[in-house]
Amino acid sequence: MTSSALPRDAGPDGARVVATLRTLADMTSDDAGAQRVAWTDTWQRARAFLRQQLQELSLAVRTDAAGNQWARLPGGGSGVVIIGSHLDSVPDGGWLDGAYGVMCAVEVLRSLAARGPLPCTLALVEWADEEGARFGHSLFGSSAVAGTLNVAEVRELADASGLLLGDVVAEHGVHLDRLDEARQEIYGARAYLEAHIEQGPVLEREGLPIGAVSGTVGVERHRVTFRGQTAHSGSTPMDIRRDAFLAAAATALAVRESAVRHQGVGTVGAARLRPGIVTAVAGETAILVDQRHPDAGALQAMLGEVQRASEQAAKAEGCAVRWEPIFRARPQPFTDELVGIVREVCTELTGQQRVLPSWALHDATPMAGAVPTAMLFTSSTKGISHAREEDTPEEHLRLGVEAFYRTVCRVIAWSSGSAVSGQ
Ligand SMILES: [Zn+2]
Repeated sequence: MTSSALPRDAGPDGARVVATLRTLADMTSDDAGAQRVAWTDTWQRARAFLRQQLQELSLAVRTDAAGNQWARLPGGGSGVVIIGSHLDSVPDGGWLDGAYGVMCAVEVLRSLAARGPLPCTLALVEWADEEGARFGHSLFGSSAVAGTLNVAEVRELADASGLLLGDVVAEHGVHLDRLDEARQEIYGARAYLEAHIEQGPVLEREGLPIGAVSGTVGVERHRVTFRGQTAHSGSTPMDIRRDAFLAAAATALAVRESAVRHQGVGTVGAARLRPGIVTAVAGETAILVDQRHPDAGALQAMLGEVQRASEQAAKAEGCAVRWEPIFRARPQPFTDELVGIVREVCTELTGQQRVLPSWALHDATPMAGAVPTAMLFTSSTKGISHAREEDTPEEHLRLGVEAFYRTVCRVIAWSSGSAVSGQ
């Protein structure tokens, strides 16, 4: 049989992806939104639904040492192209975050399974616990596979009811002592590709349904604590107060100013006042500061500016200030050649091209440190995500399926080509 006699696939069916996502949402949401929090029964229901989709394609599903689910469409050669995303959600989350990328990957597997042997293996992965909603640690499964998960750090994490992460994941068949074994999943991997909703307003604002992602931005997260003097709200004259809250408030304004100046983002998402009562000047205030920028130099400049502003504000209010790092991520650029392929596909389908950074972290972030990686975004209505209102026009979702399919086909050719030229 010549290769021209091989059956062509009919291409992906975007409407089927949307229908499958609606079924999943019906199974795993309540009135407040999606409830697929990792390591819960609802999440396991979503994963069983995925297994059912894959078994219909006669593909075996395997769970690795970190709890990620894999299905492989075997092909020639030793190379593997990996596609996927996550099924877990935040509490009261949206129907598309993560699930869209998983169901796009299923549809691409379905199309390519009908085509006949591929020049390399195509693997689908559904990552365990991307959101970190229950234990506060994001990207669990993908960073275990990429080799960047700090086991000692996650071992002691507890959820709101005091249950330890190690004990909870063990109930789901994941043993922290064996987590390292998950790293073998990427042996032979030539590329990782992920489709995802943007979760921001950029594509919608520019009238674009889809876009290529250049990489994920750098993140600096700190706890900043101001210490002044607790005093009576009535009998303490204004000129002798040492108000820790006012120093924190001035710092919060500097977080915004610095982000605007550098075209980054900065957030004070939490503040805790002590004693936190209306009849006392706050003697202590702690704020949580999150700053993000695609450029490492600009991010450090933003951090430096806010640190200086906090010292000035503390001095002006007669307070002391202390900074503690909570979380850091370097800007993670994706692989130029793969980003170029996604951009080319977007241009073909929309007549326009847009390459934008991702201001949220994704499973592609740790993967990009280990394997050539790229992502495709579809627009998000009003930029809202991690909320029940999360949505994307159906025609954009369908176009994203087609774009992801074309990207995967081209990357398979690219990876096989590079494998041959590398011999
Ligand atoms: Zn996500």
